[in-house]
Amino acid sequence: MTTYTERSDFSGKTVLVTGAGSGIGREATLGFARRGALVFAADVNSEGLNQTLVLSEALAGSVRTKQVDVSKEAQVAGLLSYIEAESGRLDVAFNNAGITGGAYRIEDYPTDDFTRVLDINLKSVFLGLKYEVPLMLRSDGGSIVNTASVAALTGPGGMSAYAASKHGVHGLTRVAAMENAARGIRVNAIAPGWTETPMVVANSQQNPAFAELARKAIPAKRGATPAEIADAAIWLSSAEASYLHGHLLVVDGGMTIGGFEI
Ligand code: NAD
Repeated sequence: MTTYTERSDFSGKTVLVTGAGSGIGREATLGFARRGALVFAADVNSEGLNQTLVLSEALAGSVRTKQVDVSKEAQVAGLLSYIEAESGRLDVAFNNAGITGGAYRIEDYPTDDFTRVLDINLKSVFLGLKYEVPLMLRSDGGSIVNTASVAALTGPGGMSAYAASKHGVHGLTRVAAMENAARGIRVNAIAPGWTETPMVVANSQQNPAFAELARKAIPAKRGATPAEIADAAIWLSSAEASYLHGHLLVVDGGMTIGGFEI
């Protein structure tokens, strides 16, 4: 019988986090390392990765960084080969890198921008799954968490590429969960709401009226910290969530409840 502590401990586990150079991915990298994991932290932004590495220095586990564009198949394949060569296994993958893209009505949305958002947010998750699953099968199985968004459940005006990509992440998650549930691999997703990452905070400072409106529309009356979202992803990756397959965990301060306050 394992204890609760053991079930949320990642000592001896190898973890991959993408988008690890900022925001939610950085907090997840630090959270897994704090729980004893060897974390492979991947991001296209090497400077962000270096900052994550510095922040991880005193933690129980360890972090190795790799500059990777997750929308490029050769680079994702290379990343998984590197992890196998270095560690010989993969227990957890958090496919989290993503971009928002511009805000335009569909008739004005530049097609190249639409493709770019789909490549970075959706094709990246497909590529991650494609190369993570075989390595997990060669290890002892594992857990994969993909970052979707509340935009996987809603239709935010101006955000066609983003919403399409995140609905796609939800679909891919369910297919991957179906294909792998009996093979010892759990696949789930998180749907964060408004999360106060450095970029969101900077935008809020530039447009405080909009930020105030957005916060008021959230039942919890505040955005999430990146660590609150990372904690949900870490829990979903852990043995404490051992019977969750194909689940979309909404972490949004109540944003998508959809009722009315009295
Ligand atoms: P962030 O901008 O702080 O972090 C995203 C990271 O992804 C950055 O470090 C960036 O360099 C990296 N990245 C971008 N393109 C990449 C590529 N091609 N290859 C590798 N890395 C790449 O933002 P965040 O809020 O932490 O975003 C993490 C995830 O959370 C994204 O998928 C985002 O869509 C999702 N999300 C965020 C919010 C929010 O309010 N912040 C809400 C819902 C969902």
